[in-house]
Amino acid sequence: MVEKNKNIIKRIALVAHDARKNDLISWAGKNSDTLKYHDLYATGTTGSLLKKNWGFEITCLKSGPLGGDQQLGAMIANEQLDIMIFFWDPMSAQPHDVDVKALLRMSVLYNIPSACNRATADFMISSPYFNHEYSPIIKNYGKFCPGVE
Ligand code: PGA
Repeated sequence: MVEKNKNIIKRIALVAHDARKNDLISWAGKNSDTLKYHDLYATGTTGSLLKKNWGFEITCLKSGPLGGDQQLGAMIANEQLDIMIFFWDPMSAQPHDVDVKALLRMSVLYNIPSACNRATADFMISSPYFNHEYSPIIKNYGKFCPGVE
């Protein structure tokens, strides 16, 4: 069990489409000494591969095509996620394309740092913000929902 510093723990989603899973597993393995101090979440298949390969403590949600992306989107809307690493496949159509799009939209709407390729993930994990407190500014969309703060 890793001793975590509650003040800086980030809640991180790790997701990869099938053709990108090897990239994500390799990136996560290379960065396991940093990732292990945070709270990790993943869609089902990605999470089970990360566990199997690196022994990560990770909360596995449903598989992406079975609702896992939607679960992550809901976590973002409920302000339960801080960072998303999502290696989506630019070369194949996905049966759950609408869910993928919705998840990416949520990450922009709630100003969640999101990496969709390995270079961005490298920049993100080497940022000083990764292991320090950071509060993203969330735009006020109040005019879209009158009566709701
Ligand atoms: P998976 O889902 O990790 O269960 O394969 C990934 C996705 O397609 O969103």
